[in-house]
Amino acid sequence: MNETVRKTSSPSCPICSKPTDVAFKPFCSKRCADIDLNRWLSGVYAVPVKEVDDEDGDRPPESDEKND
Ligand SMILES: [Zn+2]
Repeated sequence: MNETVRKTSSPSCPICSKPTDVAFKPFCSKRCADIDLNRWLSGVYAVPVKEVDDEDGDRPPESDEKND
């Protein structure tokens, strides 16, 4: 395949080390962007949440709505 040499020094994808695509930078493709996103999300979900016991609804803690 023909690989066009870019004049601008393009960094490499942090996921697979392929040349970064401008459309998906800093990744080379949407796939790698998703991989990174999943890593980030799994990192968030990895946080153990086990102190809420009596929660039967998700309402904001501060309801500052006054409708009078
Ligand atoms: Zn990649």
